[in-house]
Parts: sequence; structure tokens; C-alpha cells
Amino acid sequence: MSQASPVAPHSVVPEPARERRAPFLLRALILVLSLAAGLLALWLLGFVLDDIGDIDRPNLASFEHGALEPALVAAEGEQQRTLAAVVRDIGRQHEIQAGLRASIDNARGTLEQMLEVRRLALEKGGDWQEAEGAALATAQQRFLSSQDQLDESIELTASLEQRRHELTASMADLLQRLDVQREPARAEYQRALKSREYRVAAFKLAFLLPVFLAAAWLVARRRRGLYRPLFLSFLLAATWQLGAVIHQHFPAEFFKYLALGAGLAVVVAFLVALLRSAARPSGAVLLKRNREGYRRWECPSCAFPIRTGTEAGPATCAACGLQLYHECASCGATRHSQLPHCEACGAS
Ligand SMILES: [Zn+2]
Ligand SMILES: [Zn+2]
Repeated sequence: MSQASPVAPHSVVPEPARERRAPFLLRALILVLSLAAGLLALWLLGFVLDDIGDIDRPNLASFEHGALEPALVAAEGEQQRTLAAVVRDIGRQHEIQAGLRASIDNARGTLEQMLEVRRLALEKGGDWQEAEGAALATAQQRFLSSQDQLDESIELTASLEQRRHELTASMADLLQRLDVQREPARAEYQRALKSREYRVAAFKLAFLLPVFLAAAWLVARRRRGLYRPLFLSFLLAATWQLGAVIHQHFPAEFFKYLALGAGLAVVVAFLVALLRSAARPSGAVLLKRNREGYRRWECPSCAFPIRTGTEAGPATCAACGLQLYHECASCGATRHSQLPHCEACGAS
């Protein structure tokens, strides 16, 4: 580093304070902690934005409530209840029918057995008792009665099915009429939803933009500052959230142009700053350049070797003509022309 290898003329792009860099481990730790701070900031911003996103969410039911005719809503509820009752009754009748069918099968079996017994008795020459005749009549009676009940139940089921059919049709009609009334309420709801979307986006930007600008300002302001990594990580977090908000709330087309535009602006700004500081170093960069030049016994501007010090009187770079030493206006000693203070009297 201290080798006096001649530097290319005007290669004055400053190298950031290399000799004062912290050790690698410390730098790595600073990087990791800065990243952690950035992540936490990202998280925190995300929570705030989520909370902003929750403000006055419109409710579809309340919109519909105002738009629907109360009589129709009541009728719909009534019909729904009636329909449920009818469906329940139909189910009950099916159960009853299953029971009756089992009982009929049973009775038929008994009856057939009894008839068989009577046929055999009559064939053998008639030992058919009075009591057995009564039992047969009872069985017959039971069989017929079950049959009648089954027929009744089937008839009832048919009428219930008919009722269900009517109710379903009338419900469909009712729902259609309600839908017609719901239409404007839904449109109103969509409008409210959209206007809320813009409101939320505006609130989010109103919160995020100052944070973003403050972080950007801190980063730009403290270009060589101690806390630059920290500010930079905050800026990254704010930029990320800003991009997320824009992506979420604005059309994709818009986002595409905005993202590309912002990227282009950042790259151009960096390039311009670099070119500027390369062409005309100013402030801290210029001071550093000049300091380094005198320290290495080279012209700060063109790196031509300097052979003399202040003790040899005023001097100029033989290669580029830059004034190197001149007489101090306040003490008359020879001073460095390109450094802020006179080394003899300290005048600036
Ligand atoms: Zn020179
Ligand atoms: Zn002086």
C-alpha cells in the first residue's frame, strides 16, 4: 500500500478509509446485527401496515340489510322453516313405511302358514276348530290393516313430496326476487370496498413515505457516518414495505413501471454521484485525496512525485501545475496549498 507505484493520472476515485477499517470479525458482526435490525424493522413496519389494513372493513350483510324488502326476507325465512319441516315429515313417513312393510311381511308369513294348516286339515277330513278359524280371521285382519296403513302413508308421502316441490319452486322464485334486490346492494358494497382500498393505500403511504424519506435522508446525509449500516438496513426495510404496499394496492401495470422507474433512478443517481466525485472531488473526499498525496510525496492531483517539503519554499507540480506549497498569508511561512491549515501557525 505504501509502495510508491505510480497511480494513473487523475485516478482520484476515493477508496473508502481503507487503513481505518475495522477487523473482519467486527465488520461481520456489524453486518449481521445491521441485517437483524433491518429484519426487525421490516417486521415492525409490517405489523403497523397490517393494522392500518384492518380499518373500517365494510360488511356485506349490513349493505344488504338496507336494500332488501323486509317482507320478502321474512317470507324466505318462513318458507325455509316450512320446507325443513316438510322434509322432516317425509323422512318420518319413510321410516313408518319401512316398519309397516316389515310387519306386512311378517303377517303374510303367518297367514300362509295358517292357510296351509287349514288346507291339510280339510284334506284329512275336516278337523278345523272354531278357535283356529278366529285366529286366521284376526291374522287376516291384521294383514289388511297394515296394508291400509301403508297405503295411507304412501299417499301422505306423495302429498308431502308435492308440497316440497311447490315450496322449492316458490323459494327459487323468492330467491330470484331477493337477488334482484341484492344486486344494487352488492354493487354498492363493491364500490365501498374499492374506495376503502384507496383510503387504506393512502393511509399506508402516509405512514410509510415519511419513514422511507427519513431513512433515505439519514443514509444520504451520513455518507461516512458511524451508523450508516444501521440506517441503510432501515432504508432497505422501508423500501421493501413501500414496494409491497404499491404492489398490493395499485394495478400490476402501474407497479411494473414504478419499480423499473425507481430502479433506474437509483442506478442513475449512484452513477452520477460516482462520476461527480471522480471528476471533481469535494469536501471530505478532496481532503482525503490531498492528505494522501502529501503523505506519499506525490501530487494529490496527478500523482507526480514531489521532491521537496515546506522547508524548500513555494512549489508547484511539475507535471500538472497544481500549486503544492505557498507562502502563508498570516505568518509568512511556507504552507501546504492543498490542505486546510498552515502547519506553522494553524491558520485555515
Ligand atoms: Zn501534479
Ligand atoms: Zn501560517
